[in-house]
Amino acid sequence: MISSIRLYFLGTGGSWPTPQRNTLSVGVRINDEAILFDCGESAQTSLMKSSLSLMRIKRIFITHFHGDHFLGLPGLIQTMSFYGRTEPLEIYGPIGASTVLGNLLSIGYYSLNFEIRIEELKGTSSIDFGDYSVAYSKADHTIPALSYSLIEKDYAKLDEEKIKEMKVPRNLLEKIREGGSTRVNGKVITIGDISAGVRKGRKVSYSGDTRRDPSLLDLFRDSTVLIHESTGEKTNESKVKSYGHSTGKDAAIQARDSNTKRLILVHFSPRYNDIRPIIEEAKSIFPNVTAADELMELEVNIND
Ligand SMILES: [Zn+2]
Ligand SMILES: [Zn+2]
Repeated sequence: MISSIRLYFLGTGGSWPTPQRNTLSVGVRINDEAILFDCGESAQTSLMKSSLSLMRIKRIFITHFHGDHFLGLPGLIQTMSFYGRTEPLEIYGPIGASTVLGNLLSIGYYSLNFEIRIEELKGTSSIDFGDYSVAYSKADHTIPALSYSLIEKDYAKLDEEKIKEMKVPRNLLEKIREGGSTRVNGKVITIGDISAGVRKGRKVSYSGDTRRDPSLLDLFRDSTVLIHESTGEKTNESKVKSYGHSTGKDAAIQARDSNTKRLILVHFSPRYNDIRPIIEEAKSIFPNVTAADELMELEVNIND
């Protein structure tokens, strides 16, 4: 059962780092383990400044192989090794992941104490990790790229009255929730006997780099939080689109049309000293907008 989902904005800028913003990386802690969406080049130093230990990271999902989304991997991995990691690290990415990462991770002289498992993802599908899954779908960028959603499993709410009435010991409740049933004093108690409906799982979607693409709405549908790129705004719209990116307005339309609850903007072009026009453009279409700050942390609550 997942009690806490927390987001860590480790890098929020697009294209290249500036003194104000690192390139893209978002950490998601799910109870005691964590995943990263992308790994821009300053991800490891941002992790050290955040409250998320880099040793908790179990799997990394790379959206595409433009430098601002993956160049932090070799440094992060070497530091994990210095820290004594032995647990395998899973890295997922679009087509080409095995070649690019194989080359990237073999540069220089170092030895790792842990295994790196690289998996290339194609098409639209999802991977089950127990309490949550990660779904992915093709994004509309200039090179092969994916968008991702982390989806918490739906969760049976329990009816305290029924639990008391049926004298179900509290230490068996999780067993019933997970296995569907168990035997209590010789009698089989099913989840249906003690449930009070279903709580929808939380959902955190991450666009990576993409033009606004209606075919991504299914992936983003009913997100609790949608983290969407917004490289520019209307005065640069044609340039933004020609480089395979979205404006603040595009991100807001995706949030509105996917019935997302909260939109968080990232991947601002370093050409903007002031990102307020991007935020204002988004807010005119979808009110619940936050522009991510460097090292911003955010709890994704059940009732968000
Ligand atoms: Zn980018
Ligand atoms: Zn890109």
